[in-house]
Amino acid sequence: MDNYYDRLGVPSDASDAEIRKAYRKLARELHPDVAGQESEEKFKAVGEAFEALSNSEKRAQYDFQLQYGSAGGANMGGFGFGAGGENVFDDMMGAFFGGTAQARTQRRSLKQRGNDIEVALSLSLEDVLFGTTKKVAYSAFSACDECNATGSTSKKAPVKCPVCKGSGITHNVMRTMLGQISVQAACGTCGGYGEMISDPCPKCLGKGRVREQKTFDADVPCGLLDGSSLKVQGRGNAGQNGGLAGDLFLKAHVSQDEHFIIDGQNLRASLHVSMLVATLGDKVKIDTYDGEKTITLPAGTQTGDTQKVKHLGIPKFANEDESARGDLILRFIVDTPTKLNKKERALLEELHKLQKHTTHAYFDSAHKGFFDKLRNWFS
Ligand SMILES: [Zn+2]
Ligand SMILES: [Zn+2]
Repeated sequence: MDNYYDRLGVPSDASDAEIRKAYRKLARELHPDVAGQESEEKFKAVGEAFEALSNSEKRAQYDFQLQYGSAGGANMGGFGFGAGGENVFDDMMGAFFGGTAQARTQRRSLKQRGNDIEVALSLSLEDVLFGTTKKVAYSAFSACDECNATGSTSKKAPVKCPVCKGSGITHNVMRTMLGQISVQAACGTCGGYGEMISDPCPKCLGKGRVREQKTFDADVPCGLLDGSSLKVQGRGNAGQNGGLAGDLFLKAHVSQDEHFIIDGQNLRASLHVSMLVATLGDKVKIDTYDGEKTITLPAGTQTGDTQKVKHLGIPKFANEDESARGDLILRFIVDTPTKLNKKERALLEELHKLQKHTTHAYFDSAHKGFFDKLRNWFS
């Protein structure tokens, strides 16, 4: 595989002078102004190799990397250690350009807690009312079985970093206009951990964990409302190098019900009732998720009138106590009969004759009454 020494055409024990000489020669030959645009990639690759090998600390890190074969190639970001490879470069840059490295010089631990994961959980109103069991499928990091989550092929404990001698900190001397300045930075080789895995496991690349597809049956208690999350401890990403696992958060998405609207702890629904029941008052049966219930309509019920049915609403979270539930609020819609047989029609006509005054219609108030009730309902 391509490595920095091969790019410059020098042996791995080449002196600084040999490296500089080889680079100058190649840079002249490959410069796009001389060799044309197609050589630009090669020119850059040679520059990258020189940048790494001409700096004694970077070269030491690179040699270490080559020796243990953790990354194989010339990619400095590809360390197989517990640290994120990208931090290595950040830290080095920070050291030279006064970036964030100062803030990171505190010794970290290779042991890291796994991140939490959030997964969407689709629920129906019935699930919210009574709780349920849901199969949850998601992708997460699990402990690597190849290396027993140690990240090491030989399952060895991490070794002390040879560059910073375990301190996690390196000192770089910078030459500036004001003279030499010693800059303290997180060690680029071990990412500031002070220790590293010398023989990274090929399956998990030294992380001690691998990404896997997981499924399990989640117990969802009643009262889990739309947008709220259920925490399942320890089912998040596995930790690194023996760190604790993160948690899994199941975020509820409650689908719209055909008949019932969730309004806080209450449920709301519109109920069609016949004109005769509304006029005379009677008991009517309604179908709810709690089974068939009977309610009593008072005589003279109007469209838009409401009635509260206690404890048929949303339960409090994980509380199956009926008295802790909200209410069901019904709004009535009075239906005019449309299919009358002869006898029914005759009876109604007789009633109509008794109430001749009803043939004179009158306007509702534009500000009070039916529309007002509708507005209140929807607001
Ligand atoms: Zn180190
Ligand atoms: Zn492994």
